[in-house]
Amino acid sequence: MSTEISSDSDFSFPQYFPLHESLSRKFETIQTSSVQAQSMELVDQAIQSLVKSTKQYTEFILDGERSTPVKIDEQLLSNNLKALTNLLKTKYTLKNFNDSLQESRSRIRQESRTEQPLNLETLQAYQNESETSDKRNFADAVTSDYSQYIQLHNQQNSFNELLRSSKDYQYVKNVSFILSHPEEALADEVEDDELAVEGGKVSLKDPISLKYFENPVKSRRCQHTYEQDNILSRIGEGQNTCPIDGCRANVSRQDLQPDELMKLRVTVHLAVQHKKDSNIDRL
Ligand SMILES: [Zn+2]
Repeated sequence: MSTEISSDSDFSFPQYFPLHESLSRKFETIQTSSVQAQSMELVDQAIQSLVKSTKQYTEFILDGERSTPVKIDEQLLSNNLKALTNLLKTKYTLKNFNDSLQESRSRIRQESRTEQPLNLETLQAYQNESETSDKRNFADAVTSDYSQYIQLHNQQNSFNELLRSSKDYQYVKNVSFILSHPEEALADEVEDDELAVEGGKVSLKDPISLKYFENPVKSRRCQHTYEQDNILSRIGEGQNTCPIDGCRANVSRQDLQPDELMKLRVTVHLAVQHKKDSNIDRL
């Protein structure tokens, strides 16, 4: 009748036993726990502030009021991009962990339905089972679910995919690159041989007037860029093919959209060139 545990009895916890009902309930709601939501929010805020600081730096560079040329701080831009990459990686890891928890959760839910809770009556049975089964305790199982999860979802590929589809990342990456190299093609553009790239350089001049772009627009059909007024007057005259040599794509008013990156390229190029040009003027 005594429930006292004798000193020689084995009271170590078995290797595996189902999660207690109350813990199991807690685990069910862990995803909406404020800690997780808060850490995600902090990461998002940090991402937004990096995007904002890149935007502000760009505006500072593009400030036309300046009378001296600008020196681009490449270190600052590359640090910004590195920090943003790390933040996206953190966000990605948090999300993966969350998804993996979902899978653990359904497994644990299943187990709690079919298995006896741990108590003095079932202790011996679970201890015996520990010797033969390879079931792991809660913490080990969740950790191992997670490492299986990240192995299954090819990490590097899917993270790269996320970088490609992140508007924030593409913005900071493209702007940083263009600020440092206004006349060079972006890495992604190099693969696209339909672009107006001459000797690895991007032409910053309108193919129709051969003057620097002021309001560049890009054709959705062939990705070529023209000065808005010039291409519109060509279209108005009934010429509806792309004026670039060798490109026979049709072009209509509806195909045109502002080419913000080209505008940035030209403005940066002219801001950096400023001193050179005024020196030449003086000669
Ligand atoms: Zn074209």
